[in-house]
Amino acid sequence: MLSVKKTIEFIKTIFPGEDFIPLHAPVFSGNEKKYISNCIDSTFVSSVGKYVDQFEEMVKEFTGVKYAVATTNGTAALHLALVVAGVKKDDEVLTQALSFVATTNAIKYTGANPVFVDVSRTNMGMCPDSLQLFLTEFAEMKGGDCYNKLTGKKISACVPMHTFGFPCDIKKIVEICAAYNILVVEDAAESLGSFVENIHTGNFGALGVISFNGNKVLTTGGGGMILTNNKELAEKAKYLSTTAKVPHKWEYFHDEVGYNYRMPNINAAIGCAQMEGLVETLKKKKELFEKYEVFFDQISNINLFNDPSNELVNYWLITLVLSDKSAREKFLEYSNSNGVMTRPSWQLLNTLPMYVNCQKGNLDNSEYLSDRIVNIPSSISKENN
Ligand SMILES: *Cc1c(COP(=O)(O)O)cnc(C)c1O
Repeated sequence: MLSVKKTIEFIKTIFPGEDFIPLHAPVFSGNEKKYISNCIDSTFVSSVGKYVDQFEEMVKEFTGVKYAVATTNGTAALHLALVVAGVKKDDEVLTQALSFVATTNAIKYTGANPVFVDVSRTNMGMCPDSLQLFLTEFAEMKGGDCYNKLTGKKISACVPMHTFGFPCDIKKIVEICAAYNILVVEDAAESLGSFVENIHTGNFGALGVISFNGNKVLTTGGGGMILTNNKELAEKAKYLSTTAKVPHKWEYFHDEVGYNYRMPNINAAIGCAQMEGLVETLKKKKELFEKYEVFFDQISNINLFNDPSNELVNYWLITLVLSDKSAREKFLEYSNSNGVMTRPSWQLLNTLPMYVNCQKGNLDNSEYLSDRIVNIPSSISKENN
């Protein structure tokens, strides 16, 4: 208990003068108000406008991706990315149980079912060995496509996630999936600013998805983006996100069931201002992580999660790994009743009522981490830097 008290006292020194310290608060210190105001003055507040195009350009430049399509939120982006990847009703999509519910919900929206494989203890993302083991046991190739021997269903995609901004072993995952003709859609919702060997996350799969929700590293209020280096997939995504309207000067002709998933200009205006500050934001996130690192070096029974194999990490949510579930409960109880917001990781997706019947591999690492993880305040602000 002493180390828990010490930790909470330390967190209060990082965020002084706050009665309640949130997990992750957005910071608006640039041109946000100015661009919103421009946006309103222009009357282009909805899904057409210069900020949408500009925001897409800025994200493309930062991530090095060739094509980007801004959407209403990350969940919609993930849903549309799966549709564009060709995921159909009754297909199966491989994913990890340690993730936010949006990952599996997006899979379900297509009519497909998630299948769970384990995560790695070193980066909390999908474990390539676990993926390979599952495919070796259950995959069967028929006419160039991968089928699940147990269910007879087509395995059409794989959705690994870069947990709390730590990149998973994405190169290995893509390589394994390629051998089975399974498309990879990277759930990079949490990893804007995280790179693997100098390539931004979201660039490795056929498509990648970012979220700009209020609690993420960069926010547009609500928003998301599909990233891809494939022109055809990009065009399809943009087309479907704008109601599948065939371009014409005045006629409303739609040739398939599209979606209204385009990001409004007013959200993109916030995004442009946030993008201008992104490098500085990431620098501050890293500095905050390093402060925690120095502190937790002297605390014996609480581990600060890190993956030293990756240098360019966004440190979205700072993560602790407690010694066991009861230590985690005590930590959550003490911190939250003392004005410091902390949260456990999500309950494993395979335990949620909608997903209990989904097929799964061995999930030992997911269970280990889910029992022990706690996220602690990770905001950057004028005060702490
Ligand atoms: C935030 C998040 C999403 C969804 O993004 P929204 O913008 O909130 O819809 C999807 N997957 C993961 C892993 C996330 O953390």
